[in-house]
Amino acid sequence: MAKNDDIYELLIVGGGVSGSALFYEVATYTDISSVCLLEKYDELSLLNSNATANSQTIHCGDIETNYTLEKAKKVKITAKMVEKYCLQHGYEDEIMFKHQKMAIGIGYEECRFMLKRYEEFKELYPYLEVYDKQKLEQIEPALIFDKDGNGRDEEIVGVGATDEYATANFKTLSQSFIDNAKKNKKIKTDIFLNSQVKNIEKIDGIYQVKTKKATYKAKMVIVNAGAHSLYIAHSMGYGKHYGQIPIAGSFYKAHKHILKGKVYMVQNPKLPFAALHGDPDVTLDDNTRFGPTALVLPKLERFRSGTYIDFFKTLQLDINVLKIFFNLFKDSQIRNYILRNFLFEVPYFGKLAFLKDARKIVPSLSAKDIEYADGFGGVRGQILDKKNQKLMLGEASINTGEGIVFNMTPSPGATSCLGNAKRDVQIACIYLDRKFDKKRFEKELEEEQI
Ligand SMILES: Cc1cc2nc3c(=O)[nH]c(=O)nc-3n(C[C@H](O)[C@H](O)[C@H](O)COP(=O)(O)OP(=O)(O)OC[C@H]3O[C@@H](n4cnc5c(N)ncnc54)[C@H](O)[C@@H]3O)c2cc1C
Repeated sequence: MAKNDDIYELLIVGGGVSGSALFYEVATYTDISSVCLLEKYDELSLLNSNATANSQTIHCGDIETNYTLEKAKKVKITAKMVEKYCLQHGYEDEIMFKHQKMAIGIGYEECRFMLKRYEEFKELYPYLEVYDKQKLEQIEPALIFDKDGNGRDEEIVGVGATDEYATANFKTLSQSFIDNAKKNKKIKTDIFLNSQVKNIEKIDGIYQVKTKKATYKAKMVIVNAGAHSLYIAHSMGYGKHYGQIPIAGSFYKAHKHILKGKVYMVQNPKLPFAALHGDPDVTLDDNTRFGPTALVLPKLERFRSGTYIDFFKTLQLDINVLKIFFNLFKDSQIRNYILRNFLFEVPYFGKLAFLKDARKIVPSLSAKDIEYADGFGGVRGQILDKKNQKLMLGEASINTGEGIVFNMTPSPGATSCLGNAKRDVQIACIYLDRKFDKKRFEKELEEEQI
């Protein structure tokens, strides 16, 4: 085994968008003198932060109808960080894209819900507009007309914006974080690819992080290994009060330009995953993507062999986990949702079932317009809170207070990469007795609060 005698101040495990954002913030806003990132694969962001794996949405809370106003206020701050970072470096139309976006209500109840939500949220998002059927005919006609050109019968209301940054390629964003961090030549910034962390041990106050080829030493470690963060935490005896259930998401795609922007639907607040939506794909010209679906999958990495045993270990199956599953299945809405999403993966019948749902957005859509998007999708590691016997909605972080932190980052984890990194960089500076340039961070990446 190769020997590396340097002791880094901070070592990051995982080179997805979360690990890369942290690497950038350490190099840009602190006086930490050395940082190292270990990534399992031969490229950054090949798993969930890949553009093909996620919905590419900068979730800022304006059209996510399952967010409360409180949650929206929080995500807006982190979403603006991504926007401000991209503007600062001139990444418009390269990493971050502007186009119209909206959430639609269909039928009497959903339309009333959307209008009420608009009143509640318009102060936080002053740019939001209400679109009636006539306006939608002009700006997003595919929502209105069926294949014979007849208009939609049901009432429909859209609430959204036409001039906001709505989409990001989180893979290229993570590469940009690394490139910009490396510009700071005053500190040591090392990246090692093909370096899967196998074991972490603290010996005499220093973490020894082992890969197949080498052992790396660091005063502090932050684990941003996506669905594997909890697996690594458990292997070190931390976070046993959490289990994890991987929820895969797949997409269907149409080989034509159907929608001009992102169209979300009213979401069920009980479900922690984004509802089915449609939008132009930023990596595929003239394609429209519909999805994601939500499918329980017994592995931690999509489209990669193995990780079945890792799944079972991280699930931490016991009476509390069984109780969580029982309670979820007891709810007929959640049960039907889970079963329906299994159906979406079945060849032929899955497409027909999916089409029925996608037609709620685009009534003219036909079976020949869409196909299952092979190789698209990822895994959202949803956290099971065993103590409170609940499926947690959103992200979780375990700060052990002993110089090691573990981050679990299901959606909207890509959008909150810079916000989560800000939290961790402050934890690291306290632990390592280093300085965080909060003023500069706020000036460059934060928006004035209203
Ligand atoms: C279908 C779907 C749609 C989504 N849509 C959105 C969206 O529209 N907007 C949004 O904000 N979020 C979305 N998300 C969530 C988002 O993709 C994730 O929150 C985000 O990508 C997490 O980034 P990460 O860097 O924490 O994890 P990952 O991207 O999973 O990266 C973890 C990295 O750690 C590495 N790693 C793992 N184990 C080890 C090890 N032992 N040693 C070294 N390296 C290791 C992996 O190889 C990987 O590169 C979506 C997710 C899915 C699945």
